[in-house]
Amino acid sequence: GNRVFNFKLVLLGESAVGKSSLVVRFAKDQFDEYRESTIGAAFFTQVVPVDDTTSVKFEIWDTAGQERYKSLAPMYYRNAQCAVIVYDITKAETFERAKSWVKELQRQADPDIVIALVGNKNDLETNRAVTAEECQAYADEGGLLFKETSAKTGANVLELFQTIAKKMPLD
Ligand code: GDP
Ligand code: MG
Repeated sequence: GNRVFNFKLVLLGESAVGKSSLVVRFAKDQFDEYRESTIGAAFFTQVVPVDDTTSVKFEIWDTAGQERYKSLAPMYYRNAQCAVIVYDITKAETFERAKSWVKELQRQADPDIVIALVGNKNDLETNRAVTAEECQAYADEGGLLFKETSAKTGANVLELFQTIAKKMPLD
């Protein structure tokens, strides 16, 4: 028969890196150049087929406020089975912030949490400030998934969530 596995996923990362845009692209296949910033947390669900008989339903918490008020974050990631940590490939400081999120999750979150590091806005190649090679090496070292995406063009967004889905414990 058909099996659907539910997982709670949290999005973390600096403000304006495109967290909300990524989830809106994934859940609704839309992009809005002038999207209003998230207030509090927004909730989305989306189903990803894994194979003929199995799919994963992500329950996604798109957080805001955690960017400025670090103390809010544990509330969001505490019960999450997966985390997507986003930076902007055109802003090196957002990659540094992403690395500090990785460290915090490795110390404080569920030890089985699946973490994906995501370099967003890769449509802005001419403004690139962080190389994919550097981030891939960092991800490999820490056992993280890594993808570069564009919420604007949609590049790699579905692949990102499919890759996470395949990493989840499905039994
Ligand atoms: P958040 O604060 O991390 O949720 O970021 P938002 O999703 O609100 O996006 C911040 C700004 O970046 C908005 O103006 C978006 O339109 C823009 N943006 C988001 N993703 C992309 C992308 O992949 N490419 C480009 N060029 N702009 C993006
Ligand atoms: Mg947002």
